[in-house]
Amino acid sequence: MPERMNTVLNCILRSKGKDQQSSIHRKPVAADLLTVCCLPRRKALRRLVGAVVAAVLGCDVLIVSGAESVREQEIRECRTGEIATWGDGLDRPAISSKLSFSYKPANAPAEFSPTLVAGMVAKAAAEWSKCGVSVDVLVWVDGARPAPDVVVVQWSGKGSAGNFGLADLGKRTLSLGRSAFELLRTRNPTHDTRETLQMVISHEMGHFFGLMAHSRRCVDVLSYYHDAKGEKCFSRDPSQVRAVTEYRHVLPTACDIERCRAANGMLPR
Ligand SMILES: [Zn+2]
Repeated sequence: MPERMNTVLNCILRSKGKDQQSSIHRKPVAADLLTVCCLPRRKALRRLVGAVVAAVLGCDVLIVSGAESVREQEIRECRTGEIATWGDGLDRPAISSKLSFSYKPANAPAEFSPTLVAGMVAKAAAEWSKCGVSVDVLVWVDGARPAPDVVVVQWSGKGSAGNFGLADLGKRTLSLGRSAFELLRTRNPTHDTRETLQMVISHEMGHFFGLMAHSRRCVDVLSYYHDAKGEKCFSRDPSQVRAVTEYRHVLPTACDIERCRAANGMLPR
């Protein structure tokens, strides 16, 4: 089922410095035991003291954990109760038991070399493979017709319908929108469009793995920041969501993978 990306990436079309996500829903989460154990939050001096105490206690690993940002924690771990969607689709198994993707570089913007984008496709596929569904990435050969089961990653204004990206599960195309990236460069020239492209590829690829609903957890690559009614996504620390241009991860997070595993009948981790 095709789906639109406009609401996914609207915020990065705006200039930096503006408040892209004005109010984020708060959601109760379990205490961060690792941080609480070793490191008082906020004050650098107290953090240093905490690190010294931690070293004395022999819990060096916890020091590393304490230096991790909330966003990084959210990317790495999916806590109980954090899997939540907007209810805009029903997750299902991947479109086939083995997925194949191939990047067709024709019509790509000059800034995105064939090697760069093919690498992004491979990186996204490698991360999604943690779901447990077999996936490979094939080299595109001009003039050769790909096998019918191969998902073609392509630059297509028609296929993307003006969006950054669009997944068509029936046609097995993952279309990228050149005009959307050109608009992004115009509106926000300091933004690294490579990050956006990696995110779009990862997001759209997730639909082929069976994730049809969009996540309410801001950091998930399958997230939508808000819905049509103005409801906002959630984070463990909403202030950090508001502090950055793009909070969503560029690759699938732990919750994306966990939801993918559930959709595909994989055993819990
Ligand atoms: Zn989507």
